[in-house]
Amino acid sequence: MDLNELALRYEKLGSQLSEQYYNQNAGLAYDRELMKKLAQQLTEISKEFLEKFANPRSMYLASIGTIAEAERLEVELDFHDQRMESISTERHRIDGKKVNWGNWRQFNSQIDNAQERKQVFDEFVAKAPSIAKHVEERMRITREVYRQYGLTPLDSYLELEQISYDKLIGLLEKLGDGAKQTFLGGAALLAPQVLHKATTEYYDDFYTWRGRIYKPLDNYLKEKNPLNEVLQLLTNLGFDPSTINVDGKDRPNKSPSASCWGIQIPNDVRILYRKVSPFPDFGSLFHEFGHAIHGKSALPNDSVWKRYIVPMSVAETFSILIESIIENPLFLRQDLKLKEKAVTEIVDRVRFMNLAFLTFYAANSIMKMEFWKRNYTVDQAAKRWQELTKRFFIETPGNYWILHHVMPNYDMYSPSYVIASVRVAAMKERLSNNHGEAWWRELEAGNFIEQLAQTRGEFDIKSWKLDPDVYLTEQKSLNFLA
Ligand SMILES: [Zn+2]
Repeated sequence: MDLNELALRYEKLGSQLSEQYYNQNAGLAYDRELMKKLAQQLTEISKEFLEKFANPRSMYLASIGTIAEAERLEVELDFHDQRMESISTERHRIDGKKVNWGNWRQFNSQIDNAQERKQVFDEFVAKAPSIAKHVEERMRITREVYRQYGLTPLDSYLELEQISYDKLIGLLEKLGDGAKQTFLGGAALLAPQVLHKATTEYYDDFYTWRGRIYKPLDNYLKEKNPLNEVLQLLTNLGFDPSTINVDGKDRPNKSPSASCWGIQIPNDVRILYRKVSPFPDFGSLFHEFGHAIHGKSALPNDSVWKRYIVPMSVAETFSILIESIIENPLFLRQDLKLKEKAVTEIVDRVRFMNLAFLTFYAANSIMKMEFWKRNYTVDQAAKRWQELTKRFFIETPGNYWILHHVMPNYDMYSPSYVIASVRVAAMKERLSNNHGEAWWRELEAGNFIEQLAQTRGEFDIKSWKLDPDVYLTEQKSLNFLA
């Protein structure tokens, strides 16, 4: 096969496989055997590409990733099942069911008794070593596949993101250190109301905060329909969101977190979500629709690698840009027509969580980068992650990292959200300079976003300077601390 034939075959198999993953996440029937077969065929295509071609480089790096993914498939499916089974407790129940890895966040958000939350946290962290061998094996397979091509997943990640190791570590440290004191100060003030206790401690993880802090905001938004709002917003920007397939149905096995799927880019883009509560629904729908317009903006005749192989931080740039509109005071005041008290409270709480995110993801990202560079085992990674939590927020038992939904499941995703958030700060500055404070109502601003989105794998990363101070200063201005 020549380059074009290979790429088109890669696209076709990739589409079929991602449809199976989509079904799995949607709680629909999926075919484990078909997934294995497709993954096998994708591996063959990727190997053929790697034997014959060194360029395009993005396709070369993605092919290595595809082989690693296929070789891990079995282990990951086992990990997925084992985690749900082993990380569970008989001592606590939620809605009549025992608490397990899958409903742990729901438990933390619903249960006001902090001692009960602590017991579950401690028990789950103590049980984490029982699933560590799957994580060890998953990482070993990845490491081995990349080694055959003289690379690590970290090398590949940094090359696609066009950033050096030292520069990325420096950025993460600056953001994590810079956010720490304001985060802890805010946490001390908010703990009694949000956590129902005097102070914040190690077991009040990021997701406990996030699951609880937005509850008072739901009242302000319960009359609004987030789906209608985001459709209106994107239409005003000149997009046609009607071609995005949205599945908001509730199914028992549907994933609790919203997601966007570029099954065939740009023609088949889908969003999955489950109604949780008003404010978080706004956040997740705006975020996923940002991904969706990014996929929809691709040009159908562009190469496969340009359409599909997008640096992870670039993918998150469009989702975070659209999501950030709901923390804009002007949007809340004028578009959602909320009262001033609601506006201040929403902005404060979102910014506080952005600071929490920076401290948590500084630790997560630095650990993952060192993981590949220094060849950590799962235990060494736990020890290091614990040190980093002490540096950036509150010392947390290291084995918690095995229970996270991104760190043990991905080779290198964690820093992407951080890079994207800083890039979005620069983008918003340019949008409001050129199109006015309320840029989301301007067609021209929409054109600008669409043109950037169209570049997909050729997005000009270097033209957006990453300035941690602009982002930090905005997030640190909390009214309740003033
Ligand atoms: Zn995203």
